[in-house]
Amino acid sequence: MALMDAKQYEASLRRLKLKVYMFGKRVENPVDDLIIRPSMNAVAVTYECAHRPEYEDLMTATSHLTGKKINRFTHIHQSVQDLVKKTKMGRLLGSLTGCCFQRCVGMDSLNALSMTTYDIDRKYGTGYYQRFLKYLKYVQENDLTCVGAMTDTKGDRSKAPHEQEDPDMFLHVVKERDDGIVVRGAKDHQTGAVNSHEIIVMPTLTMREPDKDFAVSFAIPADTEGITYIMGRQSCDTRKLEKGNMDRGNLRYGGHEALIIFDDVFVPWERVFMYKEWDFSGQLVEQFASYHRQSYACKVGVGDVLIGASQCIAEYNGVQKAAHIRDKIIEMNHLNETLFSSSIACAAEGHKEPSGTYYVNTLLANVCKQNVTRFPFEIARLAQDIAGGLMGTLPSEADFRSAEVGGWLEKYYRGRSGVSTENRMRMLRLIENITMGSAAVGYLTESMHGAGSPQAQRIMISRQVNMEHKKKLAERLCGIRKDDGPT
Ligand code: SF4
Ligand code: FE
Repeated sequence: MALMDAKQYEASLRRLKLKVYMFGKRVENPVDDLIIRPSMNAVAVTYECAHRPEYEDLMTATSHLTGKKINRFTHIHQSVQDLVKKTKMGRLLGSLTGCCFQRCVGMDSLNALSMTTYDIDRKYGTGYYQRFLKYLKYVQENDLTCVGAMTDTKGDRSKAPHEQEDPDMFLHVVKERDDGIVVRGAKDHQTGAVNSHEIIVMPTLTMREPDKDFAVSFAIPADTEGITYIMGRQSCDTRKLEKGNMDRGNLRYGGHEALIIFDDVFVPWERVFMYKEWDFSGQLVEQFASYHRQSYACKVGVGDVLIGASQCIAEYNGVQKAAHIRDKIIEMNHLNETLFSSSIACAAEGHKEPSGTYYVNTLLANVCKQNVTRFPFEIARLAQDIAGGLMGTLPSEADFRSAEVGGWLEKYYRGRSGVSTENRMRMLRLIENITMGSAAVGYLTESMHGAGSPQAQRIMISRQVNMEHKKKLAERLCGIRKDDGPT
């Protein structure tokens, strides 16, 4: 089953025995839960598109381990072209779902681990890389979705992991056994957690030697004993429970995040990819983060939807010819394509690492994500500007369907002739969904904090630009420095 389809994916999730909580109650059947289901639908698109000839080139790849056709989300990048296709795949899926489709974190974890495990072995003579490849083959052959679990809850931010009052603030090893290790802690904001078959755990930050019990990476099945998921809320989430569908904005898709608790979870040795090699924790974090900063091409796809919705609502309102509206749409496109450019650039400037994996240009990946912390907010602001105040004050679908007041809403909320009031309402709800509803967690909050908050990228940018070189360039041109450059 090297390539699952959407139905097989759904069936595979039904076989998992996950312990999920939401609104204080156990969710016995996450797949059919009305709030969770749209997020499952979004991941299912990553499976369905792999079978569509028009998307085959972006959505599938050839495994460097088996030579078989696999879903690109389980692929280890073998060329710059692979990296470029990854960016394009993210945009495509964002545009098809209008939300976070969740599967990238697992892909980015696998690629980062392919490099870090190789490098740890080179330094310490450990056997992580072969273990990892065995695991990778399992993921590829079964076309699994993995959640990449990095972010610890962190407790007191001024203290290192080993200094925390409660050591569980960072996931750590509590016991070493002959057959494996026992870990405890929690990973927060886990995108697509309950839609995943596997959890890949990585450290959350650069560790020092006293933190070595926290420098651990491993993979376990999502329904391993001791794992509990607590679903995160999203703005307007309970609209998914309401009768009708108009007020949801996006009828089919959504994302989700969850807190994952690891309550003394056993991990067999063959699934451990880093164990106390604290000096590689920073590398793994940086490699995962750089890949994930590239992955935010997904926001370009969601931006495509939002720009389309803004143009539609301008037309429905009859203002599409106004010069300022046209200029705002141009600005939205400019910002969106700038995001795309930086994701493509970090891919195109990628290189081969000693393990054979292709890795993005990290400076440009950080520039990409830094842009993502800003531009979607401006695009969202312009979309709300174009949409008008009605987006935020619109009565419910139930009122539109009401025998008593529906007629008034139909009459007073009509826009340009030839456009139904209902279509106008639907488009406004979609803009609301992306800019302030449940999809805004993906389009805005994730843009700000996912793969590291803005300051994390600024630190990386300051470390990676070659300031000495820039200074020399300036000194040379104004006669302070003499060199043998062109005369
Ligand atoms: Fe993928 Fe984007 Fe969701 Fe991150 S926010 S998991 S990059 S779709
Ligand atoms: Fe993310």
